[in-house]
Amino acid sequence: MNTVLDHIELHRDRYFDELKQFLAIPSISALPDHKGDVRRCAEWVCDELRRIGMPTVTLHETAGHPIVYAEWLGAPGAPTVLFYGHYDVQPVDPLDLWESPPFEATVRDGEVYARGSADDKGQIFMHFKAIEAHMKQNGRLPVNMKMLIEGEEEVGSANLDEFIRTHIDLLKADVVLISDTEMFERDTPSICYGLRGLVYFQIDLRGTKGDLHSGSFGGAVANPGFVLAQVLAQMKDRGGRIKISGFYDDVRALTEEERTEFKKLRFNENQYKKSLGAPRLFGESGYSTLERVWARPTFEVNGLLSGFTGAGAKTVLPAVAMAKVSMRLVPNQDPDKIAKLFEDYVKKVTPRTVEVKVTRMHGGKPWMTTLDNPYVQAAGRAIRLGFGQDPAFIREGGSIPVVATFQETLGLPAVLFGIALPDANTHAPNEKLDLGSFNKGVITSAFMYEEFGKTGAGR
Ligand SMILES: [Zn+2]
Repeated sequence: MNTVLDHIELHRDRYFDELKQFLAIPSISALPDHKGDVRRCAEWVCDELRRIGMPTVTLHETAGHPIVYAEWLGAPGAPTVLFYGHYDVQPVDPLDLWESPPFEATVRDGEVYARGSADDKGQIFMHFKAIEAHMKQNGRLPVNMKMLIEGEEEVGSANLDEFIRTHIDLLKADVVLISDTEMFERDTPSICYGLRGLVYFQIDLRGTKGDLHSGSFGGAVANPGFVLAQVLAQMKDRGGRIKISGFYDDVRALTEEERTEFKKLRFNENQYKKSLGAPRLFGESGYSTLERVWARPTFEVNGLLSGFTGAGAKTVLPAVAMAKVSMRLVPNQDPDKIAKLFEDYVKKVTPRTVEVKVTRMHGGKPWMTTLDNPYVQAAGRAIRLGFGQDPAFIREGGSIPVVATFQETLGLPAVLFGIALPDANTHAPNEKLDLGSFNKGVITSAFMYEEFGKTGAGR
């Protein structure tokens, strides 16, 4: 391992110039105008993978942007790592808020400013350099490596599920490794072991065939706006607990070990409250804020619409009312089961005075891996070696649907080791990558393959 570290030390100076080229390609997957750039970026990734020593590199066409696949399988008996990442980036508007051009990587105060620097080009490049150091120094890796790098993550990975389903043998592995998440805070290297799922709905209520005069008809029929408020008020009690029958049946309880880990993190509720501009924090009683956001399900109203909302006053009795609502789910809640419980509950609590329609929109399954998973433990050891400190074991309130797909379709546990800082401005102007975290991340990644290699025989 020492020689691998020496290699990194010796070549570090050229890393920025190479990363700069990668970041210069405006691979914005959402914009049709950039279709050629996205392809050029996929080709750049292919070339780079060949440069760092991956013997098999292929570009796969999809109905959208190409998928890059590479492998090195020269370690028989060792585990196989499936590395996943994305080379596409978010759009850059509003452009005038960028302090330096989004596709000209610029270093200020030890941070690289560019679109994609943190999400996710900088983080996959970190692995490229760790792989390169092993390959150039030893001619081999401590594990078998399969790499799947897509160009549609920022637009919902529309063609990835299909690719995974049709390439199950190709993608066979022992663990998925992803670096597309954040550290809990600066100098707190983190492993994310749980993500929430989602179900999303639109509720439509109709009272009458058209809007009515509230003087001539008020008192004769139900007001859908008011009924909607009553229906929504039935969703939670005052302590923030969701009242949908059976909603909590499959919720995996937090273990004492997890609660202890979360308590160890430096989290200042008061500062958090201030940063949000909230008069008070609120959530399910009996849980801390981190527990509520990471490990408890929620019910949220995402939007409401009914009646007259313009300037002035209009005495109208609206014909319709609409709400968009969603629930963040945690392991082991099943989105289909929760959707059914929700639809039944809405029908039960909505009075017959209005017609109700519930439309299910998108969603995704929650995911987690256990803390005692040998690969999670191995990643923890690598972080201790690379950063010189203990990792934080954290969860995220958001969703990364592909992680659940890897678990379901390929039966793989995943290690989410991200080095973006919470203030990395991903998806926003002035996206940035902290070079200190990046440098430690390269070393940690190099150690991680080594530690994964020690977890026992592969398939
Ligand atoms: Zn990303």
